[in-house]
Amino acid sequence: MTFNVADIRAQFPILSREVHGKPLVYLDNAASVQKPQAVIDQLTASMTGQYANVHRGLHTLSNETTGAFEEARSTVAQFLNAASMDEIIFTMGGTDAVNLVANVLGQEEIGEGDEIILSVMEHHSNIVPWHFLRERKGAVLKWLDVDADGNVDLDAYEAMFTERTKMVAVTHQSNVFGTVTPVKEMARIAHEHGAMILSDGCQKAVHGPVDVQDLGVDFYVFTGHKTYGPSGIGVLYGKKSVLDRLPPYRGGGEMIDIVEQDRVTYNEPPHRFEAGTPPILEAIALGTALRWMMAQDLDGLVAHERALTDHAMEALRATNFIELYGAHPDKGPVIAFNLKGIHPHDVSTILDRQGVAVRAGHHCCQPLMKKLGTSATARASFAAYNTHEEIDALVEACRKAHDLLS
Ligand SMILES: *Cc1c(COP(=O)(O)O)cnc(C)c1O
Repeated sequence: MTFNVADIRAQFPILSREVHGKPLVYLDNAASVQKPQAVIDQLTASMTGQYANVHRGLHTLSNETTGAFEEARSTVAQFLNAASMDEIIFTMGGTDAVNLVANVLGQEEIGEGDEIILSVMEHHSNIVPWHFLRERKGAVLKWLDVDADGNVDLDAYEAMFTERTKMVAVTHQSNVFGTVTPVKEMARIAHEHGAMILSDGCQKAVHGPVDVQDLGVDFYVFTGHKTYGPSGIGVLYGKKSVLDRLPPYRGGGEMIDIVEQDRVTYNEPPHRFEAGTPPILEAIALGTALRWMMAQDLDGLVAHERALTDHAMEALRATNFIELYGAHPDKGPVIAFNLKGIHPHDVSTILDRQGVAVRAGHHCCQPLMKKLGTSATARASFAAYNTHEEIDALVEACRKAHDLLS
């Protein structure tokens, strides 16, 4: 099956709607991605014919639903090339997954004076849970700088380690610059210094499978709603040897082994970290979304997104009234920009009147915005279903905004 954008588009019903009487040009994929018919059908089919609580009853519907739920876990393990499906924990999203890791590490492994390395281009989801450890446990946050294109200096990174460094938390792909971080090298260096590493893959996983064993990370996080799946579901991968020694996060059903009046023992991973009824339908539909993605011509898909990005970068740069943030030649399909002298909120409002959806704001990256010397940017981000005509529409809408506001 070779990549064909018209065939892809036909599978996303929302793309045929209009906004303000104009065809929708959806370029806010880094905030959330639209859903293919296969995922919509999966949700309907589950709710219509195969639904009950999981891991509980011995009746047919419960057994069938448990089977579908665990099959989704197995699909995630395959998508990440995890060594075992026991390394896959379902969470409520990317934010929830990082909170889980920070919370359980803060119980025993990270305390007063221990150091955590973060890059300045992290999403708030991969900053604030570590701030909790600073505030509540006396941990020390150390900030790894990046250059104007989002590049990490590996020598500067290595120089940050001390015998107190316990953890590195770094994005796999910046949600502002689109730059891909050298996670594999960073993991090797972290381990040489006896530290663990978490990579935030919320922006990366939508562009195809990830190999957590090759990356060598201890934890990897991604989210359903940015991988063609539903919201309300995310994934935490944890290396088995690490998960085995970690205490539970939330308490409740499913995460226990024995509960008595004066003692409690806990289940094995991954169930130890999944208290209560999980997002059943969302997990099953996430499995469908990942299988949908893996069935595409992934080389063709990535080449298409690359071509869209190159086209957009060139066309926006050629206007002379647009400032671009981050121009790494191999960046992912995310472009942060500002129209000179115009607030990005005004830009996005005018673009919206042309049917063009972009994000405007700090993108949950206030430390990076501060470094860039701005409070906000507009951001266009592309997925498999975007077209070159839509890039032209974006540039044309920016020209209109420039003519109206400057
Ligand atoms: C979206 C995003 C998150 C948060 O994921 P949610 O599922 O929305 O909680 C974290 N990190 C990055 C880089 C993101 O883009």
